[in-house]
Parts: sequence; C-alpha cells; structure tokens
Amino acid sequence: MIALLITCAGLACPAQSPAPSRPTEIHDRISPGSNIHNNRVALTLDACSGQFDEDLIVFLVRNRIPATIFATKKWLLKNPPGLAMLKAHLDLFDIEDHGENHIPAVIGAGRKVYGIPGEPDILHLRQEVLEGARAIERATGVPPHWYRGATAEYDQQASDEIRRMGYKIAGFSVNADAGATLNQGQIEERLRHVRGGDVIIAHMNKPQSQTAEGLSAGLIELLRRGLVFVRLDQVDLEDIPKQPTHHEPPHVE
Ligand SMILES: [Zn+2]
Repeated sequence: MIALLITCAGLACPAQSPAPSRPTEIHDRISPGSNIHNNRVALTLDACSGQFDEDLIVFLVRNRIPATIFATKKWLLKNPPGLAMLKAHLDLFDIEDHGENHIPAVIGAGRKVYGIPGEPDILHLRQEVLEGARAIERATGVPPHWYRGATAEYDQQASDEIRRMGYKIAGFSVNADAGATLNQGQIEERLRHVRGGDVIIAHMNKPQSQTAEGLSAGLIELLRRGLVFVRLDQVDLEDIPKQPTHHEPPHVE
C-alpha cells in the first residue's frame, strides 16, 4: 500500500474513475420566465444521420413555424441541399449541436445506449461535442449553445462535462415520433397532449417515415389552439422533476 502511494505521488496517477452512472433521459420544459400566458412550445428536430425530410421543412417554412434543429456533422456533410434550405431560413431555424458522429453521451469502454456504443473516455466525448459545434459554425456562421446527445440519454460524468464546456443540454417533454417510427395517427395523438411549456422532440432525417405527415396535421392543430412556437435560442429550459423513464428511444439511428 505504501509502495503504491509513493509510486502514484510522483507520477500524477490517473484519478480513480467514478463508477459509471446509469444513463438517464433529461426531461425539460420551457422556463415560464415573464410569459404569463404559458402558451409557448418549442419544436426540436433531430438530424442524426440519414437523409433530409424536405416535406417537413417545406411545411414549417410555409406555415412560418420556427424550430430548433439538432444536427450532427455527419448529417450536415451528407445533406448539402438540406443544409442549404435551413440556411435560407435562419430566421426560422436555430441550428444546434447533435455531435460529430452521433455517439451517445455515456462514457466507458463497452457502454451502450439502445445498442449504440458510447464513448470510450472523456476525450472522445469532448471531440464529439466540439467537432459537432465547429461543423455548425463553419456551415452557418453561428456557433451553437445547446447540445443534445445521440439517443438523448446521458450519464452524470458526460452531462457534467458537456455543461462544463459551456453548452446547455436540451431535454424534451413530448416524444412525438419515437425515433421516426410512429405513424401519422400516433403522432397526431401525441401532439394532442402538448401544453404550453412543452419541448417536442421529433426527427427530420427519415423522409420515408410518417413524421412529416403527422407533424403537419398535429402542429396546425396546436397553432389553432393558440400555442406559439419558440426556438431554444429565445428561451431557457428547466428540468422536470424526476419522472419514470419510459424506455422508448427518442431516436436511435
Ligand atoms: Zn439523434
């Protein structure tokens, strides 16, 4: 024991890694702030990998519905026409960081979320966050301030580090399309439960899904109910006190 202590004292021993925490989804709502009407909702759309759901973005542009887009570097590089359309409407779309390669924000060799491997160590997590941010700034000229990790689950070490790097973590309160796997009717049903303050998560990377159809019908209904869409660069979020996790992937690909 003594020998070990002496060896470490001279060699800057690596800090004992904390036991990995179970990853959790972060659930957020819009902070009420001075909005006494509580009629604001935020639509967030993830562009993980995959393709560009043009129908969905065209619908939002036509109806002047703002959204916060969480894009990976991978998606930006693979979808130049999609990026061009977003850039043509930066009055509507706030583009934020979804990482470089869509790697979940859990740290430790062999750790996975929904079967997707996480980061082997904290350096890889930093690279995932930073390279995602750089790609967005290069593409749009605007640096991101929000981060959402792949699968929207985080372990404590990862979420602490992301915040330490200066990014706010974007949770959600309504999972509208379950990783672009729901049909139109199911999406509309989920959107019927949206209330002021909710943060909706859905996807814009799977044009073959029914997300565009479901959101188009459901979001029009929310406008009719008098809800006002805001972007995350216009508001702050607050954590919803612990809820049972439903273990339904907000997104997997
Ligand atoms: Zn994603």
